[in-house]
Amino acid sequence: MKVMKFGGTSVGSAARMKEVAKLIIGGEQKIVVLSAMSGTTNSLIEISNYLYKKNSDGAGEVIRRLEQKYVDEVNNLYASEEFKKRGLEFIRERFDYIKSFCNNIFTIFEEKVIVSQGELISTGMFNLYLQEIGENSCLLPALDFMRIDKNNEPDTAYIRENLTALLEKNSGHDIYITQGFICRNAFGEVDNLQRGGSDYTASLIGAAVLADEIQIWTDIDGMHNNDPRFVDNTKPVKDLSFDEAAELAYFGAKILHPTCVLPAKVNNIPVRLLNTMDPKAYGTLISSKQCTGRIAAIAAKDNITAIRIKSGRMLLAYGFMRKVFEIFESYKTPIDMISTSEVGVSITIDNTRHLDDIVDDLKKFGTVEVDKDQVIICIVGDLVAESKGYAAQVFDALKETPIHMISYGGSSHNISVVVDASDKIEALRALSAKLF
Ligand code: ADP
Ligand code: ASP
Ligand code: MG
Repeated sequence: MKVMKFGGTSVGSAARMKEVAKLIIGGEQKIVVLSAMSGTTNSLIEISNYLYKKNSDGAGEVIRRLEQKYVDEVNNLYASEEFKKRGLEFIRERFDYIKSFCNNIFTIFEEKVIVSQGELISTGMFNLYLQEIGENSCLLPALDFMRIDKNNEPDTAYIRENLTALLEKNSGHDIYITQGFICRNAFGEVDNLQRGGSDYTASLIGAAVLADEIQIWTDIDGMHNNDPRFVDNTKPVKDLSFDEAAELAYFGAKILHPTCVLPAKVNNIPVRLLNTMDPKAYGTLISSKQCTGRIAAIAAKDNITAIRIKSGRMLLAYGFMRKVFEIFESYKTPIDMISTSEVGVSITIDNTRHLDDIVDDLKKFGTVEVDKDQVIICIVGDLVAESKGYAAQVFDALKETPIHMISYGGSSHNISVVVDASDKIEALRALSAKLF
């Protein structure tokens, strides 16, 4: 069994959906995970923002525009009058449902239901298209098997058990279509795996069915060696180890959801990043194989806040670190990077929901300073101590950039630095120029 995930651009129009159909037809049995058509999740969030503000006219206008887009795509997607009619009925039902939220109480629960409509619509439309062209496909509702627990972590046992049961119940199909991104939470409510979460759906499904391969199809030919949105002449990296890919995804390479590599790594399932616009391109193969003697790629994670705690009592007082870390733990705030000295410790976080409380609590231990608008730049590759010279090249490239923190040695494949957001693009370009 193979898992194939297609992102928003890959299913962004009727024409793109027809291309996806060509890529999935034939060969072994597969589970196909689809995102919402590109732009849809943003529009659904915009609708929700109007509804929070009780502006049903504003919401109505965005709904009207979005519905019209889908009506046009339905007319382009299906060939026969019968399927056009069925497609239009399906779209009308989904949009009548979205409109039903306009005059009622609106909370985070309703928002999650609205935001889930994008994937429900794209998969419904696509499966109907496969029916029209005579494929033996079937829809597997993600809300029937994808679940997160009380800590917002995937409930892998539940996912495996329920997905296996659904597959058995619907056995005998060549293609199973399901929604990326959406899930239920521990209370059974509709929820999601955070923005970009369809990649995570694909790897969780891959792990649940022990797939031979997980394919992430997107609009670029694999993981590039730097962020193509900011740096020119970036190139695809052919091979990445699970650890390298996880590091790049977590530290900002948008092509992959931050935590989607782990389920594949745990089950040793290769992940291929492929391009729907250029299906013959090799892309990137993520596997347990570690390439040596090279820097693979650079990524940047935005919206980082650095917190510095200075204390005269730090090093001699054992237990200091534990007390500091406990504060972050009690506010369920993950730490991204840490760096220490005799008199202090600097820590970065990206979730600032509890920043004020954390800072307040940290003041028990010393003077606390906060720097907002920081960026972590992460250089990933074979950086074992024996690979001499790479660290020198990194710092040579960054000699004009003020660096606020450095982390090296946490793993054998990562050097991370913290810089001001305003220095990010220049630093990324300087690193590419020096390293590639
Ligand atoms: P999808 O909608 O298919 O999930 P995304 O927009 O989430 O696609 O991810 C693909 C985009 O990620 C690319 O178009 C590219 O702009 C961006 N990106 C950022 N960093 C990288 C990188 N290192 N390699 C490839 N793409 C990257
Ligand atoms: N549609 C969701 C988003 O835009 C999930 C995804 O595309 O992966 O974030
Ligand atoms: Mg994505």
